[in-house]
Amino acid sequence: MFASIIIEYNAQKLDKTFTYKIPTELEQKIKIGMKVYVPFRNQKIIGFVIDIMKNIENQDYEIKEVIKIEDEKLVLNTELMEVGKYLSEITMCSLITAYQTMLPNSLKIKKQKHNYELLEEYLSIKDLNKAKEYIKLYKKRTKQIEILNEIIKKGRISKKGISSTNIKQLIENNIIKIEQEKKYRINVENNNLVIKKLTDEQKSAYEKVNFSNYKTYLLYGITGSGKTEVYINLIKRSLELGKTAIMLVPEIGLTTQIAKRFYEAFGSNVAILHSSLSSGERYDEYIKIMNGEVKIVVGTRSAIFAPLKNLGIIIIDEEDSPSYKQDNNPRYHARDIAIFRGKYNNIPVLLGSATPSLESKARADKSVYQLLKLDKRVGNAKLPIIHIVDMEKEIKKKNTIFSDLLKEKIWEKINKKEQIILLLNRRGFSTFITCSNCGYVYKCPNCDITLTYHKSSNNLICHYCGYQKRKDGKCPICHEESLNYYGLGTEKLEEKIRELFPSIRVIRMDQDTTRNKGMHEKIINDFKNEKYDLLLGTQMISKGLDFEKVSLVGVLNADTSLNMPDFKSSENSFSLLNQVAGRAGRSKILGEVVIQTYNPDNYVIKCVQNNSYDNFYLHEMQFRKRLKYPPYYYLISLKIIGKDYDKTIEYAKKTKRFLESNINKETIVLGPTTAAVFRYNNEFRMQIIIKYKKDNELMNTLKNLKNIFININECYLEIDFNPIKV
Ligand SMILES: [Zn+2]
Ligand SMILES: [Zn+2]
Repeated sequence: MFASIIIEYNAQKLDKTFTYKIPTELEQKIKIGMKVYVPFRNQKIIGFVIDIMKNIENQDYEIKEVIKIEDEKLVLNTELMEVGKYLSEITMCSLITAYQTMLPNSLKIKKQKHNYELLEEYLSIKDLNKAKEYIKLYKKRTKQIEILNEIIKKGRISKKGISSTNIKQLIENNIIKIEQEKKYRINVENNNLVIKKLTDEQKSAYEKVNFSNYKTYLLYGITGSGKTEVYINLIKRSLELGKTAIMLVPEIGLTTQIAKRFYEAFGSNVAILHSSLSSGERYDEYIKIMNGEVKIVVGTRSAIFAPLKNLGIIIIDEEDSPSYKQDNNPRYHARDIAIFRGKYNNIPVLLGSATPSLESKARADKSVYQLLKLDKRVGNAKLPIIHIVDMEKEIKKKNTIFSDLLKEKIWEKINKKEQIILLLNRRGFSTFITCSNCGYVYKCPNCDITLTYHKSSNNLICHYCGYQKRKDGKCPICHEESLNYYGLGTEKLEEKIRELFPSIRVIRMDQDTTRNKGMHEKIINDFKNEKYDLLLGTQMISKGLDFEKVSLVGVLNADTSLNMPDFKSSENSFSLLNQVAGRAGRSKILGEVVIQTYNPDNYVIKCVQNNSYDNFYLHEMQFRKRLKYPPYYYLISLKIIGKDYDKTIEYAKKTKRFLESNINKETIVLGPTTAAVFRYNNEFRMQIIIKYKKDNELMNTLKNLKNIFININECYLEIDFNPIKV
């Protein structure tokens, strides 16, 4: 027997299969989807079995043998093998890259195998007679006698906390032995599982989902309408049908609260997959799923590859979140994979959002997806009152950070013992530093980006490549102590709040305060338990969080996201502002929102104020149509990247000529232009945008282009299908 194997060895150039002979002793064990060791160019490397054949045609070269199976327990099933092929097709990545992407970090092909299994050790009696004899003989060894008596009484005890000298002596005397047992790091109790009853409106949406065949549904429900309860009931139905379920959530902050709700509803039937788990925890959760010990997976983007068998439904919460699109190779969108798996298993796929992406809403309008709506907040909670503040006028009153209204509202809510959330979508202290003497501006040496000052670490940091530099207070050019700090980040905002409102207990949530494991949970729980009055943070705090006592949401600068040079900036701003406003007044207290902006007449701001997604949608669709953007056109972004300035521009121009001579007349090729950040990590980046409606030859043209680039050393090509920013 023979195996077709793909290997990770220069994946770009060697994107093909290699044939190996299967030694007789492995014939019964080896399966498609397993990882194996094979010899390759005098090395022993790991590969993936993608096919097994009885015979092959006579080859005139020597066929080498598979060395061994890496781990018999780990097999990608037939469905996931197909998902991998699909992933490689739609993103044009190599097959091995696709399979690697689908596996959790702990299971990816690595040079060194690491054992993630957590074993707990116990002590038990090896020979009871000997033990009794020992107790009689050595009465003075009181500690050992105590241990022995406890083991005899309990059957076995944990090895933790018992001195190794005592253990060693008892083992050497053949009296006790050590037992090992596999343990999971995350364990959930199954007590008092609660599934809430649905409201009439929720029930009617729930009942429209048909489990007997594939269809994509768009659940469009306003903030606070209880989408999560609909998800939970749908998953319950899937379990009742004897099937399983995947539920995707966008951010880690959100994962925490939703995970808690899912544990309450389904107990140990849930596995959680997200990036802030340790490698060991991820490994454990993956093994639980693979062994069929759980039926529900809740997780962020890559959880869409969870190896659940017999899927019954796939749900994507906040489907418009940019976090579902991976921003490095392979650039896939979880929604596409969900729909592929939905069709493969012939099951429903449900996309939920308070602000659906334009693409999904347009599909629902054309009945490609079925639209389900939730218009009411649970418990008849009212939508918050939204105040728009023109910062142009506030600046004249010297109010640069807080408007009079926001200050007034903060005091009002504090006096009523209610809570406040403030959004500022920029982390750090100052967004740039410049010298007032010579005009020098601190920039990243690797990128075309100003460095952000982080006060707590006294570092200047590039938010693109991570470059760090200590700040010494003097201009590096003229050596004067004349540095000025501009721009407001969350760190500075926190300091300002402490100055202005000294009695308020404030907590900050952004990438910097949540770097350590468990910090997300801690901040959310502490705020929920009212240890703090005010939570401030970046967009991390905008979605999904549910705090009963929050009655005021303030947006410090609504223009940050509005001013992005990006076709989706209005959509993203509307979504962010609508979502964060939705954090206010979710129970009995009426919520208020203060949005500070320099563009009070912008239609995005107006639509947020009137809580009108529908108006926003109509307006934005006209804009997209006029400028030939999605959902009217498909987009592809090509980046030509290289270390040499002239070569990069030369190849970008060549690429454009190649495309133009190989595409449809209707297809539009724009560029090459410099990418939004032209120099990034010491490489130059030129961008070409393709807009098309239908072009049967385009995929082949791009494949040919990709193959040409494989043999070019000075530059490489990055292809992003359906990019979410250009
Ligand atoms: Zn200077
Ligand atoms: Zn940088």
